[in-house]
Amino acid sequence: MKIYNNPNSKTWSSILARPTMDTQSLNATVSEILQKVKNEGDAALQFFNKKFDQVELEYIEVTEEEIAAAENQLDKKLKKAIQTAYQNITKFHAAQKTETLEVETMPGVRCWQKSVPIEKVGLYIPGGTAPLFSTILMLGIPAKVAGCQEIVMCSPPQKDGKINAAMLYTAQLVGIENIYKVGGAQAIGAMTYGTETIPQVYKIFGPGNQFVTTAKQLVSQEGVAIDMPAGPSEVLVVADETCEPSFVAADLLSQAEHGIDSQVVLVTFSEGTAEAILTEAEQQLKQLPRKKIAGEALENSPVIIFDNQTSALKLINEYAPEHLIIATKDADEFAKKIINAGSIFIGNFTPESVGDYASGTNHTLPTNGFAKSYSGVNIDTFSKKITYQKLTKEGLKNLGPTVELMAEAEQLEGHKNAVTIRLNNINTDYNLSQNESFQKRKIQDLVRPNILTMSAYSSARSEFEGTAEVFLDANENPFDNGMNRYPDPLQNELKSKIGTWRKIPKENIFLGNGSDEIIGLLMQTFCSPKKDSVIILPPTFGVYEVAAAIGEVGIKKINLDKNFQPNVNAILKAADSNDKILFICSPNNPTGNSFDFGKIEKLITTFDGIVVVDEAYIDFSKNDSCLSLLKKNKNLIILQTFSKALGMAGARLGMAFASEKIIGFLNKVKMPYNINELTQKAALQALEQKDISQQQIKTILKQRIFLEKELSKFDFIEEIFPSDANFLLVKVSEPEELYQFLISRKIIVRNRSKQVGCENCLRFTIGLEKENLCLIESLNVYHPQPILK
Ligand code: PMP
Repeated sequence: MKIYNNPNSKTWSSILARPTMDTQSLNATVSEILQKVKNEGDAALQFFNKKFDQVELEYIEVTEEEIAAAENQLDKKLKKAIQTAYQNITKFHAAQKTETLEVETMPGVRCWQKSVPIEKVGLYIPGGTAPLFSTILMLGIPAKVAGCQEIVMCSPPQKDGKINAAMLYTAQLVGIENIYKVGGAQAIGAMTYGTETIPQVYKIFGPGNQFVTTAKQLVSQEGVAIDMPAGPSEVLVVADETCEPSFVAADLLSQAEHGIDSQVVLVTFSEGTAEAILTEAEQQLKQLPRKKIAGEALENSPVIIFDNQTSALKLINEYAPEHLIIATKDADEFAKKIINAGSIFIGNFTPESVGDYASGTNHTLPTNGFAKSYSGVNIDTFSKKITYQKLTKEGLKNLGPTVELMAEAEQLEGHKNAVTIRLNNINTDYNLSQNESFQKRKIQDLVRPNILTMSAYSSARSEFEGTAEVFLDANENPFDNGMNRYPDPLQNELKSKIGTWRKIPKENIFLGNGSDEIIGLLMQTFCSPKKDSVIILPPTFGVYEVAAAIGEVGIKKINLDKNFQPNVNAILKAADSNDKILFICSPNNPTGNSFDFGKIEKLITTFDGIVVVDEAYIDFSKNDSCLSLLKKNKNLIILQTFSKALGMAGARLGMAFASEKIIGFLNKVKMPYNINELTQKAALQALEQKDISQQQIKTILKQRIFLEKELSKFDFIEEIFPSDANFLLVKVSEPEELYQFLISRKIIVRNRSKQVGCENCLRFTIGLEKENLCLIESLNVYHPQPILK
């Protein structure tokens, strides 16, 4: 080897010059071969087999019998070795699979990228003197792991017309079924154009002689892809005084034996180390069967001695070796600084040979300095990435103007118009029924990012769920008084009973300390402070607005129309991507009426966010609950409560019915034991005695009719709004005066006259018969004062 001591960086490129391949001179010959294969198909292949490989074959396809024979013929130990390599290489390449990557680049604009295998691939495996069955592993396994559907393998026949047994065994182990006895440029031609026997492929892989390399380069100009430009194999070993000279010498020789044009480079930091390695190399060379080739290769190889690491690193990164072996004291640190190399072997016990055969990494690597810009073969080499995008109407509303502007600036009116035509349509389209393909944001896109990523609190009672005799896990007082233990954090028994009653699986139920708590939790789950907002439909239940204000969540108000019905078009038109929740209260408090079911359904299916239908009063209503819409609408949450019809306002128990996903997030956000033991027991009992509440509901409804009739007799009562709940909203001439008058008679009603749309209105809850009579009696006493003008 030639020794260079601290060579000037200007001389590096000549010291490390690689042999240039003159494919130009072969172009004419190879083109002719390719042309013949293209024109004559199988006949040309037979012709070249005879001409170049001196074999005449009846069939070029390898038969099943040949594969079986190869398996029998092969030594058991070699088979075992191939299997071990197969397993490691498969493991490493399978781990390279990536998940589909999906990003919402802006609200309503979803982009994703997926790896899709190349459907048809061709593997060229050289035969002749060295049957490279390891290359079958290195190309076949990633092709299989990537999911390529058709894998074609070509390899030149031996003199006996067969293909080497180890190669056939390996091919069948990998699962390659289409194997053909064709070599050289003609094989590349066959896989490019297809013949009667050999299928055409989209990408060709594998090493080969100059003819094969030239053929690959030529066909790559005809629309077939190739793996990478090939050149002679290379190794660069960097070794310091901590290396084991005999190991380094062996590594250099293992590369040198490939061929006389093999590139072998040694970089060290002292003459002593260089000499020790070269002495070892001389000794070992004598023992090698391929000593002539290896000796010649070494003759032309450089040893470069540097007195500092920085220059060594610079030289290596400039050379970009196919294989880099690092045998230095700080090998791991050194490796981190390498930016150009095909594959890196770190430490004294990592010879290149392990990567060549069986550690798991691929041995098909970029040579000739291509490691600066190419990777070695991996599963991505056998796949391509497809990108996808899907915009919702909201998404196009958000992004469209940007695209219009850019297209206009590039003077591509057609591009602009493709957006404009849709935006115009969207702006007039709110009346249309929901388009089937209308894509709404997913629940996880609506949830606040911090909630999505945080981990939930794990309580003592959720960590252990079974039965036991001794509970020493939650720091409770052990003396039993019926409530000394923490309650079930997920209220399983109660949810099962509620589930049976409402015909909803218990997994779709969440319980809160009143519906009020649930409303607060929904804000916390979906609405980022100072960024997101909710839509409410006044006049309506006041807690929505308060809960939003607590959370610094914006509030968009779209008033009910004069019949107290939601204005669907106005709501949808006003909605934008920051609006996370739409609150619909039906029957509505304080108006008492139910909303038109069709309108509610339209809002649920069209609003691109969470729709909460608050059904606190549903048991008093003649209208249907929205529970039937739950299955189809993952964005729907229905609130009900034990506070009204079930007569348990004091126990504080509210229910949310929703998709499991939403329930999961609510469970994450709630405090651990939000429903106390006494409430859980009382609720279970109430569910056992539903006939009692049923009876009460009937009585309340009768009383509502009675009260409505009686109220209509007073001329200071201007309007009684039809009610579907357990209260009546009434318009009076002097609300504040009447309100105060009733207080003076110890009757408390609700003054709602300050609410938009409820001007002059009081709200009367339906009480017991005697309470209602008491109210009527007082109203009989009341005479509104004439208004002083
Ligand atoms: N929603 C509506 C429409 C209500 O009127 C009320 C109580 N007035 C609630 C929810 C709160 O119910 P809870 O007692 O379950 O918190």
